[in-house]
Amino acid sequence: WCSETIAVVTGANRGIGFEIARQLAVLGLTVVFTSRDLDKLNEATKPLLEQGLSVVTHQLDILSQESVQLFADWISRVYGGLDILVNNAGVNFNIGSDNSVEFAETVINTNYYGTKRMIKAMIPLMKCSTYASRIVNVSSRLGRLNGRRNRLGDTTLREQLTDEGTLSEELIDNMLMCFLEEVKHGCCTSDKWPQMFTDYSLSKLAVNAYTRLMAKTLSTRPDDQQIQINCYCPGWVKTAMTGWMGNISAEEGADTGVWLAVLHPSQPVTGKLFAERREISF
Ligand code: NDP
Repeated sequence: WCSETIAVVTGANRGIGFEIARQLAVLGLTVVFTSRDLDKLNEATKPLLEQGLSVVTHQLDILSQESVQLFADWISRVYGGLDILVNNAGVNFNIGSDNSVEFAETVINTNYYGTKRMIKAMIPLMKCSTYASRIVNVSSRLGRLNGRRNRLGDTTLREQLTDEGTLSEELIDNMLMCFLEEVKHGCCTSDKWPQMFTDYSLSKLAVNAYTRLMAKTLSTRPDDQQIQINCYCPGWVKTAMTGWMGNISAEEGADTGVWLAVLHPSQPVTGKLFAERREISF
């Protein structure tokens, strides 16, 4: 990895995203920090530029197709594409014991559809030059399909999402559409859905399932066009999202994401979920 390796991180103005981007820059990569608010971002990255790190900033709102397209045009024109994409941007409006679904649409649209929008827009621009390109999705254990706690209550859907033969983009999208319909009609507390941070957990479950699906699709590309895609749970991290609760710092929460982004090519891995640098089950 070197300064010619281009890494892009979404939601990099603060929290885990800032830390992932900073740590990649410290490793010597050229890192494009992106954020919805360019002024905030320029302020946050000033000390890194003063340290001489190869840091670039660009506006990017993953909820906006126009913003994503403008970003894609820019990165293609200026750098000829990218090597690493870290989909970190996300929202969660539930803190503590709050399990409201008031913001369910924004949560699903940002965490899942925003991430998917970025993946679709960036894949054609991934350079796969020296090594396989990498996509890292910052997800959550709360979105585990088969975890013992907080699992998806609908067993048929869980089986369909688990089985490679039935997992599809339509299945994931339909699940979310069905959930948002229930939210609209005020009946989404059925035991079909995860019981804790329901909308957020479901958005991350969708990200995890989409990661597995994309890994399978991408694996059919020619050897010199390989893209590895994985997701990870950073742990319970002290950031604005958790109201500064949590048991680890953003620096620690970023660690597995950075590790996955620059994993040595002798350890090719794709379509997996990680935590603390170890694979965990979906
Ligand atoms: P923060 O709230 O500190 O950071 C979230 C980042 O996402 C901010 O930079 C925010 O930008 C950005 N963002 C939100 N919406 C958009 C959008 N539409 N377009 C672009 N950027 C956007 O939270 P964390 O650092 O804790 O979270 C980072 C990731 O880690 C998230 O995906 C989260 O779900 C995940 N995670 C966090 C855990 C934790 O314990 N903290 C646990 C498990 C997963 P802005 O400043 O403009 O709002």
